Amino acid sequence: MRIGILGGGQLGRMMALAGYPLGIRCTVLDPVAESCAAQVCSHIRSEFDDFQALYQLTQVSDVVTYEFENVPVESAQWLAERVAVFPPPRALEVSQDRLTEKTFLRDLGIPTPLFAAVEEQYQFENALREIGRPAVLKTRRFGYDGKGQAVIRTEADASRAWEKLGGRPLILEEFVPFDRELSLIAVRGRDGQVVAYPLVENEHRDGILHRSIAPAGDTAEELGERAAEYAARVLGELDYVGVLAIEWFQEGSRLLANEMAPRVHNSGHWTLEGAHTSQFENHLRAVCGLPLGSCEPVGWSAMFNVIGNMLPVAEVLRNPHAHLHNYGKTPRPGRKVGHITLRASDAEELYEKLPEWSLAFHRPPLGEE
Ligand code: AMP
Repeated sequence: MRIGILGGGQLGRMMALAGYPLGIRCTVLDPVAESCAAQVCSHIRSEFDDFQALYQLTQVSDVVTYEFENVPVESAQWLAERVAVFPPPRALEVSQDRLTEKTFLRDLGIPTPLFAAVEEQYQFENALREIGRPAVLKTRRFGYDGKGQAVIRTEADASRAWEKLGGRPLILEEFVPFDRELSLIAVRGRDGQVVAYPLVENEHRDGILHRSIAPAGDTAEELGERAAEYAARVLGELDYVGVLAIEWFQEGSRLLANEMAPRVHNSGHWTLEGAHTSQFENHLRAVCGLPLGSCEPVGWSAMFNVIGNMLPVAEVLRNPHAHLHNYGKTPRPGRKVGHITLRASDAEELYEKLPEWSLAFHRPPLGEE
């Protein structure tokens, strides 16, 4: 099988690497010459709306997929008229706009934080009255890793937030005083079979994922079942094929959906060593119409992102349990350049070792060393 991937970042790279043992060859389409996926598979260098290049991609692909959700929907639709495209372009459409996404989830009966659409200043003021403070103002589109959002606790915050973000289509959300952030990665095959990994616990720093623990500690089985049932509703509604990630806020026994990603996800990187089948392999299996692999975890895993600049390899590997993934990217502040996964045989061992691992793999931001 030949897979075309829109986007050539680390997600595309790990997908391409997962394809090799299965005899699956990937081609990424990405405008950036030094795309890190291009180091490991074929690369068509082009913008995502260059139809000549998209046509070229159809000529080398049996199936086309994406590794990031801001691919133009028109490009995905154009491709879908010529070649199998999974997940369906509608999944892109829903997840590209925070308002469409939250409305879609709410309409499926999936709990979300309270939210309101904001375009004009009077709508902002009304929404703030309705939702109350603290609240979070976010751009509807092109926000990721905490970019394009502002937390509003005071009146002064409200003016500042409007100054920063006003003039664009926005969404105001209640600020959820969550106990923790969780995510669920589910996969749907071409035959409609659905499988899901266990819930993962995520810790963000400066809006960027810092660490994932899988399975999430102290999670009532019921919570995981509920999240998987919600995910199955989304997958069914979209007639989805491939990996879907949904991020949640847990507040007591409440589970509120924050956002979804129609692609493999950073909080699923632990599956490379920590599950019977990785999310990358399962995504490829799904889009190729192959049977899905087991999502059973193998022990307990902790995944740390390496942000900004790569840690010295020898330093990481001094820990005999460390699995290092270096994406081959140029260092830049706030950039995800790699990740490290460590596995323990049970929760007790994981939590015992976690402080030491956290210390070893913490890196001061670029410029602060
Ligand atoms: P997002 O880009 O929506 O994933 O937001 C990035 C991070 O900001 C999340 O992972 C949360 O830590 C925080 N955040 C976003 N929305 C809310 C909210 N409504 N309440 C509390 N924290 C939030």
